[in-house]
Amino acid sequence: MKSAAARQYDIAIIGGGLVGASLACALAPLGLKIALAEAVPFKASSQPSYDDRTLALSASSCQILKGLGIWPLLQDNATLIREIHVRELDRPGRVLLSAGELGLDGFGHVVEARVFGAAVMGILPDIENLDILCPASIVSIEPGEDGARIVLDQDGEQEQIEARLVVGADGAHSFIRESLGIESESYDYQQTAVICNITPEHAHQGRAFECFTPSGPFAVMPHVQGRCGLIWCVHTDDADALLDLPDDEFLYAAQQRFGDALGAFVKVGQRSSYALRLVKAHEDIRPGVVIMGNAAHAIHPVGAQGFNLGLRDAAVLAEVLHDEISSGNERPIGSIEVLRRYSQWRAPDHQGTIAQSDGLARLFANPSPLAAAVRTAGLFAHALLPPLRRQLAVKAMGFRGRIPRLALGESLEIEQV
Ligand SMILES: Cc1cc2nc3c(=O)[nH]c(=O)nc-3n(C[C@H](O)[C@H](O)[C@H](O)COP(=O)(O)OP(=O)(O)OC[C@H]3O[C@@H](n4cnc5c(N)ncnc54)[C@H](O)[C@@H]3O)c2cc1C
Repeated sequence: MKSAAARQYDIAIIGGGLVGASLACALAPLGLKIALAEAVPFKASSQPSYDDRTLALSASSCQILKGLGIWPLLQDNATLIREIHVRELDRPGRVLLSAGELGLDGFGHVVEARVFGAAVMGILPDIENLDILCPASIVSIEPGEDGARIVLDQDGEQEQIEARLVVGADGAHSFIRESLGIESESYDYQQTAVICNITPEHAHQGRAFECFTPSGPFAVMPHVQGRCGLIWCVHTDDADALLDLPDDEFLYAAQQRFGDALGAFVKVGQRSSYALRLVKAHEDIRPGVVIMGNAAHAIHPVGAQGFNLGLRDAAVLAEVLHDEISSGNERPIGSIEVLRRYSQWRAPDHQGTIAQSDGLARLFANPSPLAAAVRTAGLFAHALLPPLRRQLAVKAMGFRGRIPRLALGESLEIEQV
């Protein structure tokens, strides 16, 4: 892997979306030379990662983001989730998760993806050892003995870079995953999420609502300035009609589905939509390569876990590399022994979170009476048994299995000797 023309890096992150940009911040204290290549300009209205979506960030994610220095730029536009109300449309059984009941302030915060994008753009340019290559799209990757060579397209010009470790954070259609022939399985839920902001008549008071329907969840998240983020999953065949409804008819339809817990819905913002698919890679490491975030696992938004899961990927990789560098080992950072520690650590969280979101999405879409009985029994069990509610809350807060140090409020500074 030698080329006079290629720029040399320790780590090249491909994809500067929610996960790739967070990883760049997490790696900043390690003293490594990093390239971050992102295809779409960060401020472009077409930026796919930093759009109008409201993201529910778990308590562990908020803690990680504090450690990355991103949280101070988000907190004024973040809304605390104090209660989560769960029910199934037209069926009995309701679960109320109350942070107060568990002695907590909240379960996490809601932040707009666009606000997140503005925050990371405020931080990334100040990271000394980071080159931001944007807009730059990867066109080829050639793995070598101690890293990989990458060709990027920047405004029609091709540039080569070489890195000891390449991280594919390039989303569900990951070029890195496909180019390396990493197999993945995918499942089309035949559901489309229609998202928008709505303003209800009454204050949300930090309450989040998730109503399961046969076509997927209808979720209302507390947001700033009295607004709420709406995620309405419908059968894909019905999505266009919902997107095209005049505002007053859309508000009426949403109200019919939601009920009057927040009074009348009085205003709706711009609507957009996302087809929902599960994508699950069969491997997340190769020598000199890691794939993470949506590139490794794109999941159904039920339970709002996708970015939370990817952020934990970033926190764990940064910690594994931190410990490797601090240990004084001579091993290359992209060696499979180092990366295996990352992959083994992440596996239980990946499996658990994917199984939960996929299981819920399929169970609530299942029309059989047996599945309906299981759902109702599950809701009643959670409503009646505080230990089950506590377990659910701990998972919703992103504390699963071995917790990365950043999520415990510890830093990853390298100690100078
Ligand atoms: C409707 C909906 C609601 C959601 N709500 C939540 C929520 O409340 N909480 C939560 O935790 N998660 C939520 N998610 C999931 C969350 O959006 C994803 O988990 C998250 O976007 C994954 O981030 P990522 O950086 O891995 O991928 P992406 O966001 O897809 O970013 C990938 C980046 O890579 C870039 N890229 C792609 N190809 C290339 C290339 N060839 N070269 C260079 N760059 C490239 C793209 O431009 C993009 O910026 C939701 C998802 C949906 C669809």
